[in-house]
Amino acid sequence: MKYRKMGKLDWEVSALGFGAMRLPTTRIIKRADYDESIRIIRRGIDLGINYIDTAYMYHLGSSEKIVGLALKDGYREKVKVATKLPTMMVRKSEDFEKFFNKQKEKLDLDMIDVYLFHHLNGSEFQKVKDLNLIPKMEKLKEEGLIKHIGFSFHGTLPEFKEIIDGYQWDIAQIQYNYMDAGIQATTEGLKYAHEKGTAVIIMEPIKGGFLANPPKEATAVMDKSSIKRTPVDWALQYLWNRPEVAVVLSGMGSMKMVEENCASAEISGVGSLNEQDNAILEELADIYRNKILVHCTSCKYCMPCPSGVNIPQNFALLNNAGWISKAGISNKVLQFMIKRRYKLLAKTKEQLQQKPNTGNASLCTQCGVCISKCPQNIQIPDELEKVNAILGEKKKISDYYSS
Ligand code: SF4
Ligand code: SF4
Repeated sequence: MKYRKMGKLDWEVSALGFGAMRLPTTRIIKRADYDESIRIIRRGIDLGINYIDTAYMYHLGSSEKIVGLALKDGYREKVKVATKLPTMMVRKSEDFEKFFNKQKEKLDLDMIDVYLFHHLNGSEFQKVKDLNLIPKMEKLKEEGLIKHIGFSFHGTLPEFKEIIDGYQWDIAQIQYNYMDAGIQATTEGLKYAHEKGTAVIIMEPIKGGFLANPPKEATAVMDKSSIKRTPVDWALQYLWNRPEVAVVLSGMGSMKMVEENCASAEISGVGSLNEQDNAILEELADIYRNKILVHCTSCKYCMPCPSGVNIPQNFALLNNAGWISKAGISNKVLQFMIKRRYKLLAKTKEQLQQKPNTGNASLCTQCGVCISKCPQNIQIPDELEKVNAILGEKKKISDYYSS
């Protein structure tokens, strides 16, 4: 494992961090698989990972519990643990202590190394200030219950700069990958935070797995390089090549992912990509940008939907359909299979009772409660309407999305 500077902090962090938001799940009812999750987290630590990132909301509340269990038997001493206050669920000042105590109990730790405000943007930061939550974080620090203070971010560049300038943060966690370098905090924000001494942590390095599945023309572009890399390795090396990046979090859901990503981290470093590699990455970004219909990263922040719609699953199916159609693959079988998978999702209340949270887009009542939860600012009900029209009602993709 390679280790990197963690901003102005006095410890080094593994190039790869373990994101505990996409842990392995059980087969039939998709709940986090405790045993397998613990096994892969420990394997990552054995391979040198020393940073684990979880949050109150991950895996509908069970991620913190799993991380706590994985850190028994001598693993706690080997890692820094980060978790996040669910800022979006904080309504009044006292909620802060309520959530922190619950999180500490689930993690079963005396001290949490990094406590972040989850999902800040301009308005959430205003709430943090109005409710005086930063002094509450500082109090926890004085009491030795947390070590470092940070925030994770989904907003615009001006909002990011305002937040960075608003406090002496130890850590800022941003969504960044070679396709998204121009959105949210952007490369400019990454550099801005770094110059202020804030350690910048990267999330969504593979864009929710999207960059792991290249279409044919992207593979052809990757093949131009003299060094053979997997699509995931390309995405990770892009980030480690940047001096401003501290740690790259990967939400790993299998032993294979852990081992492959650790092997990638092993050969990582600033300056490890040459000019040709950077040109390849730019070409790849253009190809992907041209193909994605809905920029959903499967973070599941919008879940559960009160009507049982599986929002990310519906968008994944639509993106797959778009992928095939825009790639010009005249594969009717693949298109048929995607539509069939859509039809297999629940479309009645009775079916939902058997399989909760597996509904298709037709169940969306347009209530709108999911919209503000989406860090990608997707107009979820509008997009779901299109999903149902395309996958459920034989409308064409080109009726809704330009090519
Ligand atoms: S708008 Fe649709 S998808 Fe969103 S929460 Fe309401 S019913 Fe669910
Ligand atoms: S729709 Fe938005 S909130 Fe829901 S999974 Fe996709 S990116 Fe996350």
